[in-house]
Amino acid sequence: MPNAPRHDFSGRLSELLARFNMKTKLKNIPGLPLPSPRWYPLLGAMAGFLFILLFIGGAGQNARARMSIPHDEWLNAELHPAVTTTRRIRRATLRNGDHAVAALQRLGFSINDAHRMITAANASYHLKNIRAGHIFKRIDTPEGTDFYYNIDADQLLHLHRNPDQNDWHANVDKLPVNVRQRIASGVISGSLFGSAERAGLDQRTTMNLVNIFAWDIDFARDIRSGDSFKVIYEERFDDAGRILGSTILAARFVNQGRTYQAVRYQLTDGRVDYFTPTGKSLRKAYLKAPVKFSRISSRFTLHRKHPILGYTRAHRGVDYAAPMGTPIHAIGDGHIIFKGWRGGYGRFILIRHTNRLHETAYGHMSRYARGIRRGQFVKQGQIIGYVGMSGLATGPHLHFEFRVRGRAVNPLTIKHPPARPIARAERDRFMQQTAPLLSQLKQPQTEIIWG
Ligand SMILES: [Zn+2]
Repeated sequence: MPNAPRHDFSGRLSELLARFNMKTKLKNIPGLPLPSPRWYPLLGAMAGFLFILLFIGGAGQNARARMSIPHDEWLNAELHPAVTTTRRIRRATLRNGDHAVAALQRLGFSINDAHRMITAANASYHLKNIRAGHIFKRIDTPEGTDFYYNIDADQLLHLHRNPDQNDWHANVDKLPVNVRQRIASGVISGSLFGSAERAGLDQRTTMNLVNIFAWDIDFARDIRSGDSFKVIYEERFDDAGRILGSTILAARFVNQGRTYQAVRYQLTDGRVDYFTPTGKSLRKAYLKAPVKFSRISSRFTLHRKHPILGYTRAHRGVDYAAPMGTPIHAIGDGHIIFKGWRGGYGRFILIRHTNRLHETAYGHMSRYARGIRRGQFVKQGQIIGYVGMSGLATGPHLHFEFRVRGRAVNPLTIKHPPARPIARAERDRFMQQTAPLLSQLKQPQTEIIWG
């Protein structure tokens, strides 16, 4: 045995390890934070590496290592070297518009099974709420079938069924999560993303920052070098240091000399939202821009030379030059009253907003979002299509118009009232709870200009 080629030897070891995993894992002990099953391969590899270190020292140390393995296990492994674990893992990534039943069927569950699983899960989590991009995972072992769904960064829905049984048992596992508070600030030079990255912000937190101020700042077009930001946020990370997500607690953005501030607050009714330091909502009826992150190709003007037709033609909108396929968002709630080809505008969508006075128009699309049709109600921020160059366009861009009573107006100059502010009865509570964060936001920080 000590003379066996090393790769053979470690093969035996990992087999042994796999057998141990089978014996010790998968039983959920309440209160004991179990690692997510997607880390099992990593944990297995780490444990395997440790074992190899123990064994690699030579024959003398093998005996010592053997002693750490229960004798009957060791014997078993020696007697049945060909035993392989029967563990089958199947995954399905949830698609847009996916139904739980269909996704479960892709994992090989019958319709009856799928319904039993949904029913069993209901007390812990409604599987009807599954979201696109998330993963369903099925693991079959001699101990039964396990099904996992990552609800979010720190919760895992786990269903278990014993072999040859129909009953599913569900519970939501809390994944071990660490939290730290961080502050990042910077002055923008070049792109927002680059500057945020240099200030230590991960991309998701930068996107969250953009979404918080999306009703006030046109990030696609109005960001300038010299703009600045400061973000206080809570970062969640696992034991391996991997970032799972973040929550912005307070933020300040100075855009072309104007200061915008936001603070996170949980209302007495349980809702969580962002407000200005005086308790006004940051939400408004319309987003400032229908696309995120691009550079502007033309300003709103009534006299300009049309790039293709070659003559001056009123241009009653704003063009957002953006890469082909950039998502286009409805800037407000409303109904789609036109969807189709409209002359020079190419693939075109017109939305009549809920006050019935305002319409927004989106042109030159490469394609419409899936499921979008005339008459349909769309929500603010919903993706309705993708940037293209259909119709008369020299390059991929979105032609965007804001119309009041049918007349195009400059969307950049319209002021929209914000959503409901903090109720008077709740103001004191709001002020008290947000004061520490807001004073932290005010503290001067050494601002480094990145170049
Ligand atoms: Zn245009």
